[in-house]
Amino acid sequence: MKIVVGHLYPDYLNIYADRGNIAVLARRAAWRGHELEVHTVSVGDPVEPGAHDLLYVGGGQDREQALVAEDLVAKSDGVRAAVDGGAALLAVCGGYQLMGRSYRDFHGGDLPGIGLFPLETVAGETRMIGDVLLECELEPGVVRTLAGFENHAGRTRLDAGAEALGRVVAGFGNDGDSGFEGCRVGRAVGTYLHGPLLPRNPWFADWVLAQALAHRLGEAPVLDPLGDELEQQAHAVSALRARSRGGKR
Ligand code: GLN
Repeated sequence: MKIVVGHLYPDYLNIYADRGNIAVLARRAAWRGHELEVHTVSVGDPVEPGAHDLLYVGGGQDREQALVAEDLVAKSDGVRAAVDGGAALLAVCGGYQLMGRSYRDFHGGDLPGIGLFPLETVAGETRMIGDVLLECELEPGVVRTLAGFENHAGRTRLDAGAEALGRVVAGFGNDGDSGFEGCRVGRAVGTYLHGPLLPRNPWFADWVLAQALAHRLGEAPVLDPLGDELEQQAHAVSALRARSRGGKR
């Protein structure tokens, strides 16, 4: 089966090689006999209704975010229609912030977001940098961990009742004190975890793939398991590094 990915602003938002997440999805799809077709959706390009099974946006600094924010607002209806129509979405750091309602930078400048996620972000005086470990329960009763790296000034506040991606075991997460990291609305997930995120979290890569396939199939398929020894080792090293920095900071 073909899985069509709309990669938003790869030319602007690709800090820490966030596009590596696409390489992971492509390879894990191919190992299951699926083909990932990746289309760039940058400034001036429309998000056509129904065209994508997955929308992906990486992270970037305030400067790059400012260069794309208005354009993303112009794409807002298309992005919302895609997600309402069952497409999956993964947004990282700067891209995550712009999928919320707004981002206020360190100098007090306001960037508009598209309000897909029920949250707002305001930059603080210090950066929140380091390895992170999360506990996630994306399916009821199944708790798994995500290991990654964060580097952001933005403090993200979820609206009351909003669903986080996970609980912070070690690291800062959304704002350094709520204990939450990321946000989830159905098949749409936003997170501060860079790194890239997916190579060391194979279960989550497969979750994203399955959500993208669900757009085509109506429900998320169970993907054939892969060996993942190297990926599990990478996860273990990363998780240990996060734990060794102490608990929630
Ligand atoms: N500008 C944002 C912040 O510092 C995003 C940074 C990033 O994507 N690494 O909060």
